[in-house]
Amino acid sequence: MNELTLQNVTKKYRQKTALDGVSLSFKTGINALLGPNGSGKTTMMNIIADLISATSGSVLWNGASVSKLGEKYREILGFMPQNVSLYKRFSAAENLRYFGTLKGLNASKTELEIPRLLEKVNLADCADKKFGSFSGGMKQRLGIAVTIMNDPKLVIFDEPTAGLDPKERMRFRDILRELSESAVVILSTHIVSDVEALADNIILLKNGKICENGSADELREKYAPEASGDKSALEMLYMNFFGETE
Ligand code: ADP
Repeated sequence: MNELTLQNVTKKYRQKTALDGVSLSFKTGINALLGPNGSGKTTMMNIIADLISATSGSVLWNGASVSKLGEKYREILGFMPQNVSLYKRFSAAENLRYFGTLKGLNASKTELEIPRLLEKVNLADCADKKFGSFSGGMKQRLGIAVTIMNDPKLVIFDEPTAGLDPKERMRFRDILRELSESAVVILSTHIVSDVEALADNIILLKNGKICENGSADELREKYAPEASGDKSALEMLYMNFFGETE
């Protein structure tokens, strides 16, 4: 069992506190970060991915400081930012080949990985098409393929389902379930239904603070909101905290 831990993490942008003393641990499985826009999800993910540094506090991977792990941390990490940006003039396969090299995969392993990954994200027919010609959903799917290359042990997805149609969303859920058997998966979203179907652990974030943390069942039990109309119990809980769902 792997574990990513935040210890009293605060991030300030000038006078704005985006994260306010967050302590939290993410274990192997699917961890969903749920909160409205501006609640601090991207900031938290960027800190976990070691792309920006916290103003104070620490991030630990299995007890070791991420900033000290350096290259070793990058080897186990897969990160998909909100706006997937790959090489426009490279085909899908060329992009995967390029990122395989960056991730330190040897050439023969990369060649085996490319068709497997393209199949997984339903882009096998587009291996030779240029990324620049892809629709938003296809870009997103190639981003997923790049992110899960080389079996990362910590995988972070920032708003991954934006731009995916319902069928692709289901396919992505399957990918996440498979990944989560051996990896710590963290995904951020403001879409409650994504979380309900998937998450082993749900973290509700508001104004840079954690307001709840537990499994969907635990949260339902704690607040026991009745599902009403076509709203699920978790949607009711979300509305309780944040006042609206999308
Ligand atoms: P979310 O991903 O939940 O939408 P963010 O982490 O993007 O939230 O933002 C949290 C808060 O921090 C917001 O109020 C946002 O305006 C602010 N913020 C984020 N990035 C910056 C930045 N680079 N400079 C100043 N303020 C920022």
